[in-house]
Amino acid sequence: MIDVHVLAIGCHPDDIEVACAGTLAKYRQLGHSTAICHVANGNMGHVEIEPDELRAIRRREAQEAGALIDAEVITCDIGDLQVYAGQPTQRDAVVDIIRAQKPDVIITHNPSDYMPDHVAVSKLVFDAAFAASVPHYVTSQAQTAAITPIFYMDTLAGIGVLPTEYVDISGTIATKLAMLEKHSSQMTWMREHDKIDFAEFVTTCARFRGLQCGVDYAEAFTQCYAWPKLQAQRYLP
Ligand SMILES: [Zn+2]
Repeated sequence: MIDVHVLAIGCHPDDIEVACAGTLAKYRQLGHSTAICHVANGNMGHVEIEPDELRAIRRREAQEAGALIDAEVITCDIGDLQVYAGQPTQRDAVVDIIRAQKPDVIITHNPSDYMPDHVAVSKLVFDAAFAASVPHYVTSQAQTAAITPIFYMDTLAGIGVLPTEYVDISGTIATKLAMLEKHSSQMTWMREHDKIDFAEFVTTCARFRGLQCGVDYAEAFTQCYAWPKLQAQRYLP
């Protein structure tokens, strides 16, 4: 594979870790560069911690997780449940990130994921990835970006997804889980109050996807089938 720069755009801090951190860690192992963007700041992801405080905590957790694979971690800093695909300023914020990053591959949420902010991010990224390539579409980043392949991550628990691509993450699942554990405001809360071990949840999903493609652990994707985003070479590691 040629050297690529990968931009993974998720909604909340931790969404990328859940669905594609094994793949990002594998890109990194192979010498490629990665950046992680969380569009929303995750400020409502806790019952007891107030939104302003949680926003800062989750920003720090995301940066610590990204540091494990040398990924730049960026954010649009939009409040939870305030992400709207039809909001031009939000689309332009994503356009600016794509233009600044100039990715060769974009990874984002599946258009039919389980919650509205995730669905909105998927649509924002689809729209922004096109707009970012149009020279007369003016945003604060002057330089356009090329149109790139887009891969949609698995939905939460893989519901409703028939994958078109698998990535063997058997060698990087430990890194994926280590990145996930950096989001302790979420992981600890769920363990102690919801009795959900999210690491086990994510491991089970990766094992199931691995079973489907004959490896120990895998992450699954569906490619965005839209001209001219398709290319003859494989871009996933
Ligand atoms: Zn999320």
